[in-house]
Amino acid sequence: MNPARRRRDGMKSKCGGVNIELESSEIKSSVRALKEIDFELAYLTLLTCDGLKPLSRWEKPLTDDGLELLRQTGLLTKQIRRTVKTGKEVIETIFSRLPAYILLYEQRFGNRPIDKSAQTQRFEGFLFGYPPCCVNEYIRKPYAPNNLGAEERKILFHWACRDCKITPMLLDAYKSIYNSLNSY
Ligand SMILES: [Zn+2]
Repeated sequence: MNPARRRRDGMKSKCGGVNIELESSEIKSSVRALKEIDFELAYLTLLTCDGLKPLSRWEKPLTDDGLELLRQTGLLTKQIRRTVKTGKEVIETIFSRLPAYILLYEQRFGNRPIDKSAQTQRFEGFLFGYPPCCVNEYIRKPYAPNNLGAEERKILFHWACRDCKITPMLLDAYKSIYNSLNSY
C-alpha cells in the first residue's frame, strides 16, 4: 500500500466518528488554524466533517497549507478548474468525507464554465445538503420572504423556503456546530 493511500485511510477513520474524534488535539489545532484563515472556512469544515453538508465548496483562493489543514481534519479535497464568462479561469476547492461526492462534482463541473441554471442549482443543492423544497423555491423566486431571523439566516448556506419543514430541524444542528467554533 502506498503511503498516500495509507494516510488517507487513516484520516478517513478520524473524520468518521466525528463527535468524539473532533475533540482530538490534532484536529482541534487544524480547525483553529483554518479559523485564522477564515471563520467561514472553519465553519464549513466542521459542517462537512459532521456530515451535515455532504460536500462543501470554497471559492476564495486557498494555499497548499490551507489544503493540508483540511486534509488533517480527515476530509478529502480536490481543486477544480472552472471558467467564468470572460474566459478567465478560477480554481474552486471542494471537500467532503465522501469520495463519490468529490467524483460527482468533478465529473459534472470540472473544466466547465460556472453557470447558475436550475439544473445546476438542483445538483449543487443535493451535493451541499440543502433541502430540495428550499432549492426549488429559490429557483422560482430567489430570497422570497421566510420566517427566519437574521441570526438564523447567518448560520445557513441556503435560503429557506417559506414554512420549511426541514430547515428548522437542520438549524439546531447548524447552531450547535456554529457555537462550538468558539471553543477552538
Ligand atoms: Zn425548504
